[in-house]
Parts: sequence; structure tokens; C-alpha cells
Amino acid sequence: MSNTEVAPQEILCETDGPCAGVELLVPRQVPLGGPRAMDVRRTLPQRQRSLIGAWCFLDHYGPDQVGDSGGMKVPRHPHTGLQTVSWLFTGEIEHQDSAGFHAAVRPGEVNLMTAGRGISHSEFSTPDTTVLHGAQLWVALPDTARHMAPTFEHYRPEPVSGSGWTMRVFLGALSGSVSPVTTHTPLLGAEILLDAGTELTLETDASFEHGLLVDSGTLAVDGQPVAKDNLAYLPVGHGSLTLFAGSDGARVLLIGGEPLGEKIVMWWNFVGRSHEEIVAYRAQWQSEIGADAGTGDAAGGAPDLRFGPFPPGGPAALPAPALPNARIRPRG
Ligand code: MN
Repeated sequence: MSNTEVAPQEILCETDGPCAGVELLVPRQVPLGGPRAMDVRRTLPQRQRSLIGAWCFLDHYGPDQVGDSGGMKVPRHPHTGLQTVSWLFTGEIEHQDSAGFHAAVRPGEVNLMTAGRGISHSEFSTPDTTVLHGAQLWVALPDTARHMAPTFEHYRPEPVSGSGWTMRVFLGALSGSVSPVTTHTPLLGAEILLDAGTELTLETDASFEHGLLVDSGTLAVDGQPVAKDNLAYLPVGHGSLTLFAGSDGARVLLIGGEPLGEKIVMWWNFVGRSHEEIVAYRAQWQSEIGADAGTGDAAGGAPDLRFGPFPPGGPAALPAPALPNARIRPRG
């Protein structure tokens, strides 16, 4: 997925004042890849909150009638310094990247792409997909890992169930379920399904910040109602979280992690540590896709390419937007 926004915008708590205990992050609608493209609901980053643990981006979409919206059509675009985490509820997406991975993203299976020093990828909903519904999240890599070689992992967690609930832990550990997927800071990611009227208390790591995205139904966390499509933020210090589903049941995504403890500079699809780094990433991307356009196969195999090579034949790569006039500020 590609960030079509240039600068984070406002919006946050439902109330004007500080939220009581639980901070509610309200989504804004963003067209994914320009006009005639599907809309996503972006809850992270926001002006007042850049990170939850190392999670730095959350796009939530659907259920989307692909026949109306055109589905997901994100041509080749670059990333640096982050991992993308794709999680679907319905539909299927075809992923292809410059590290040589070609994969299907399917419901209940996590696809994690580590950009490291640089990668480019494309994401298209498959022709058979009629309804597309899911989320894409980004994780900022810590300074110690952000220059690593790009890679890709896939994992289908075995569902864990109890009375009135089912969960799929795709990153980290929760309720005895442990994901083998590689993270570079302590992280948690899980889908939780609750039947109507179910109360579930989760043992959580008190050193983590947590976020709860309500995909469907009605939910309260520690007594605080969280509306559908909102992301509830809980600061460090919660050794447990009590979820309660209303009469429609609920499906939620739970994310968490140790505070990153580093300031990041985030612009378009790049995460770095300085304005100058971002400017250089952008220049290199523009140069590499210019080379593609010039010769058709110039990306094939040159060892110093940050974002290539990329399989030929797909739609044209996405050029980067213009840089802002001001310096890009560190966040977090
Ligand atoms: Mn992407």
C-alpha cells in the first residue's frame, strides 16, 4: 500500500479535552492512489499521535464492493525503513516486490514485507475478488535494523478459541499463541472475534502501548466505548485489557509494542531519521523509475539499486509527490 497523503492531518479525541484513560483516534478518509480508487480509513499517524509502539501507520478499508470501487490498484512504489503488515478479512491481493517475492494476501494470513534499506512493491486485488476488506499497517524499524536487506514473510496463525471468542495472533504473543514472524522491536498484532455479550480479559504486557481498531460491531475496552472504525489508544501500564462486545458482537485488531524510543521522519512511503535522508530516498526512487522508463529493463540487476530490480510488464511505477517547502519534522 502507498501513502497518498503528503502531510498528516488533524483529528483525534472525540472530545475537545483529554480523553479519559482511553484516547480515541478517529479515521479520516483517504483515496488510495488518486481519484477513482478505493477509499481507506486512516487512523495512524495523526497530528497528536505518530506511533503506538513501533506501529506508525494504519489504513483500514472495506467491506468494499470491488465492482464499484475498482478495488485495490497500487502500482509499484517504494518503501524504506519500515515493515508493511497486510491483514485481510475478505478478498485477495496479489503482492509482488523487488526482493523477488510474489505472494497472495489472503484472509487470516499475515504478509509482512520488511523494506529495510529499500524495496518496491505492487498490490492489486485479484480479478476474482468481489469484496475487499482488511487493513494495512506499517511498523517503523529501529535504527539498528533499518538498513537491513529487504525480505518478506508469510504466516497463517492457528486460531485460538475460548467461550465466545476466537483470536489469531499474527505478530508477537498473546494468550499462549506465539507468532514466528520476525520483528525488530517487541510487538503484538492480533485479530479478535467476540460473540455478542462476550467479556474477555487479556493478559497484556504492561511495558507495551496498545491500540484497538474496531472493524465491526460494538466494543468497550476497560469500560470505554469505542465506535466502529475508531482506534483506541492505551498507554503503557496496562497489564490487562478487558474487552466487552455489545449485541452485534465485535471484530477488532489489537496492536501493541514497546515505545520505539526514537524520533522518525516519515514522508510519503519512506521512513528515515532526517529530512536529508528522505530527500535522497526520493531522488533515488525518481532516478530508478526514470531509468526503467528510458530503457525498459535498466532496473535489471544493477547491484546498487535501492528499489529494484522489478519484474517488467506491470503498470507504470508511482512517481513521488513534490517535496514540501518546509523541512520534514521528526515525529514520535
Ligand atoms: Mn506499499
